[in-house]
Amino acid sequence: MSGIDYRELKRGGVMRQEREDRFLVRLHLVAGTLDGAQARAVAEAAERFGSGALHLTSRQGIEIPDVPSGALVALKAFLAARGIGFGVCGPTVRGVVACQGRGVCPNGVIETLNLAGDLDRTFFGAPAPHKFKIGISGCANNCLKAEENDLGVKGWVEPRWSGEGCTGCGLCLTVCPTKAVRAGADGGPGGIERARCIGCGDCITACPSGSMVERVRGHRIFVGGKLGRAPSLGRPLAAVLTRPEEVTAAVAEALEFFRLQGKPRERFGDTLRRVGIEALEVHLGALQGKSA
Ligand code: SF4
Ligand code: SF4
Ligand code: SF4
Repeated sequence: MSGIDYRELKRGGVMRQEREDRFLVRLHLVAGTLDGAQARAVAEAAERFGSGALHLTSRQGIEIPDVPSGALVALKAFLAARGIGFGVCGPTVRGVVACQGRGVCPNGVIETLNLAGDLDRTFFGAPAPHKFKIGISGCANNCLKAEENDLGVKGWVEPRWSGEGCTGCGLCLTVCPTKAVRAGADGGPGGIERARCIGCGDCITACPSGSMVERVRGHRIFVGGKLGRAPSLGRPLAAVLTRPEEVTAAVAEALEFFRLQGKPRERFGDTLRRVGIEALEVHLGALQGKSA
């Protein structure tokens, strides 16, 4: 059709379909969350402006297919009146995804939903050299797959062996899924290999005498992950950030670094492979110096 700027529409979350004059509209959700009234409104919108169908995306999103160009403005207004915006596409920060985290899930180490809201309010739609995806998992179980994101956040608990009251029962060694707890001479732990630790906290929970204690609890950041044609997993930064505000600051710094160092249409992980993750660590240095 003439007169339609498809690229501009796509940037605003409206994708051209195979069928002439039909569009797939991506909605902007945060952590896949809607209240009941909004869910009903989305269903009504699909019936009024599309074919009645909805599509659930792989990133906790909803898309409304089969919307004709003439209905896009009315659809946007209908949803906006109910607190739901259109999503984004192209070289921008996408809607933040998250698991339920602490407060809902009994395994949660960190609160995730408020953090997702804060990050989304601060960064959604911000420009970047390429798409930039942020995902939050509340604990080492990693239901939200933090390492698949350009920037992932994971709840993290690391142990310290105090030695006090240790009976040498060896439970901490048995439960550790990565053999990060090294065996000592008397059956107890001889040390903890930080590089192997996945921050699950199982050794702390299992210790019957309280000898294995928390060294740090907070947010571990993973950078440079992606799926698509050439998948690669994000790599962890050194620090564990104890406060959500530090995470927001770290995301701001990482995005600034990406804008400075990234080439157009280069994913964050490819930038980091080219310039070295150490350069990002240096960029974040002042921030991480304040953390555990
Ligand atoms: S990642 Fe952890 S906190 Fe989040 S839903 Fe899974 S088990 Fe629960
Ligand atoms: S926190 Fe988990 S991975 Fe780390 S040492 Fe303890 S049991 Fe092992
Ligand atoms: S589980 Fe606790 S008491 Fe048992 S060996 Fe480990 S630190 Fe010592």
